[in-house]
Amino acid sequence: LGRSHLSTAAEPSSSKSNPPRVPNLIGGSFVDSKASTVIDVINPATQEVVSQVPLSTDEEFKEAVSAAKKAFPSWRNTPITTRQRVMLKLQELIRRDMDKLALNVTTEQGKTLKDAQGDVFRGLEVVEHACGMATLQMGEYVSNVSHGIDTYSIREPLGVCAGICPFNFPAMIPLWMFPMAITCGNTFVLKPSEKDPGASVMLAELALEAGLPEGVLNIVHGTHDIVNAICDDDDIKAISFVGSNVAGMHIYSRAAAKGKRVQSNMGAKNHAIVMADANVDATLNALVAAGFGAAGQRCMALSTVVFVGGSKPWEDKLLEHAKALKVNAGTEPDTDLGPVISKQAKERIHRLVQSGVESGARLLLDGRNIVVPGYESGNFIGPTILSDINANMECYKEEIFGPVLLFMEADSLEEAINIINSNKYGNGASIFTTSGVAARKFQTEIEAGQVGINVPIPVPLPFFSFTGNKASFAGDLNFYGTMISTKPGSSALVYQLHYLGVTF
Ligand code: NAD
Repeated sequence: LGRSHLSTAAEPSSSKSNPPRVPNLIGGSFVDSKASTVIDVINPATQEVVSQVPLSTDEEFKEAVSAAKKAFPSWRNTPITTRQRVMLKLQELIRRDMDKLALNVTTEQGKTLKDAQGDVFRGLEVVEHACGMATLQMGEYVSNVSHGIDTYSIREPLGVCAGICPFNFPAMIPLWMFPMAITCGNTFVLKPSEKDPGASVMLAELALEAGLPEGVLNIVHGTHDIVNAICDDDDIKAISFVGSNVAGMHIYSRAAAKGKRVQSNMGAKNHAIVMADANVDATLNALVAAGFGAAGQRCMALSTVVFVGGSKPWEDKLLEHAKALKVNAGTEPDTDLGPVISKQAKERIHRLVQSGVESGARLLLDGRNIVVPGYESGNFIGPTILSDINANMECYKEEIFGPVLLFMEADSLEEAINIINSNKYGNGASIFTTSGVAARKFQTEIEAGQVGINVPIPVPLPFFSFTGNKASFAGDLNFYGTMISTKPGSSALVYQLHYLGVTF
C-alpha cells in the first residue's frame, strides 16, 4: 500500500529502502534528497509508516527553481495547442490510474476510497478545464482608439510559479495549481503537504508520461524552510497556497514583500441556516453528509448549523442520522467516515469539544471514545454534536476541522445572517428553505465566497473560480475559473434551486 508511487521507470534508489523515501522531482528526474532529516508519512487508520518525506536541502530547492527557470523560455514558446495536448493526455492517464491514485490518497490521508476518488476527480476536472486554455487566454482588442492606432492586451506567462499544498485534498489541490499554471506557459515548483506527498509524486509521473518536458514541473519536499525559501526566492514570480491561516498569512505577507503575486486560500467555519420551512429529509441528509463526510476535514465542510426558530424540532432526527454513520478505515467497504489525519489533530479536536462542554454547550453526541475493531490505534473520532453554542465559545471561534457539528439558534433569518457575517471566516455558507424570498435575501446579504441554496457544499466547477472572503482568502486572483480577478466579497454562486412549492 502506498508504495506504488515510487515504483516507476525513474525509480530512485531510496525507493527500495523500507520504508521508502519519497523522491523530489528536479529537471525531469526523480531524485533522492540528500537530507539527513525525514518525516514519517503515517497511515492514519493503522499508524503504519507508509514512506518518509525528506526535509530537502536549500541546494536541492535552488536546483529545482533553476530547472524551472531553464525550462521556461522554450516552454513559453511551445504552441499553446501543444501545451493543451499534454493536459489532454494527462487527463486520460489520471482516469487510467484513478484507482491507484485513490488508494494512495486513502492510505496516506485516511478518507474513504469513494471520497478519495472524488478528491482525484475534482482535480481531474481542473485538468479538463486546462485543455481549453487557448480560449481562456484570449485577450482584448479595440481598433482605432486614436487615428490609426489599435490597442490590444495579451495574457502572458509570468515565469516560475510555486504551489504549497495542505493535507486534506492531496490530489485535488496540486491539480488546482500546476495544470493551470503550466498550460499558461509558466513552469512550476510544487511543495506537497509533508503529511501525504504520495499523490503529488504519482501525478507528476503521469505528467511526464503525458509528455511534459523536463523542468516544467518540479517537486521539492519539506516544511517551513522550503516554504520560506519559496517566499524569498527572486526567481519565483507567483505563489498558490492552500492551507491554514497561520501559514497562509505568513506566506502572503512574506512573499508579497518580495513583490510576488500570492493567492492564499485559508481556513473556514462554514455555516448553514435551516429555516423552519426547509424540506426535512433533504436537509437532514445534507447536514449529516456535509458535517461528517471526510471526517469534517474538507475546507467546505459544514461546521455550524443555525436553526431559525430553534434546533429542538431537528435534534432527534439529526442524532438518528448521525448515529447511523459507519466510522472505519477508509479502505473498508461501507465506511462513511475515516480517521482524522494525526494524533495531534485528534487531540486538538477533543480539546475543542471539551472546551465547548465546559463553557456550557450541550453535548448531544460524543464521538470521542470510539474504538474501531481491527484499527484500535487509528485516529478515529465519531460524529459529535454540540448544541446551545454561542459566538464567544472557543469551539465556535476556532476552525475545528473534524467531524463535529455545532448547533446555534436564531429568532429570524436576519439574526442568522448577522451571526454568519460576524464570523471572521467567509469560505462557504448555505441556506435550507423552500422560500424563494428567504433564499434571495440570503444570497444577497451573506458574506461568503461560495453560496449554496439547498446545496450543502457549494463547490464551484472549474469554469468558475473557487473564491472565499474575509479571513478565508488573501489575494486578488482566485484559483482556476476564467483567471479574472474577482473582487473580495464577490461570490461564485452555485445554485441548485429547490424552491419546493414556491413560484416566483
Ligand atoms: P497547514 O497550513 O498546516 O499546511 C499547509 C502547507 O503550509 C503545508 O505544505 C505546510 O508544510 C506549510 N506550512 C504549515 N505551517 C507553516 C508555517 N508556519 N510556515 C510555513 N509553512 C507552513 O494546513 P493543513 O493542516 O495541511 O490544511 C488544513 C487547512 O487548509 C484548513 O485550515 C483548511 O480550511 C484549509 N484549506 C482551505 C481550502 C480553501 O480553499 N480555502 C482548501 C483546503 C484546505
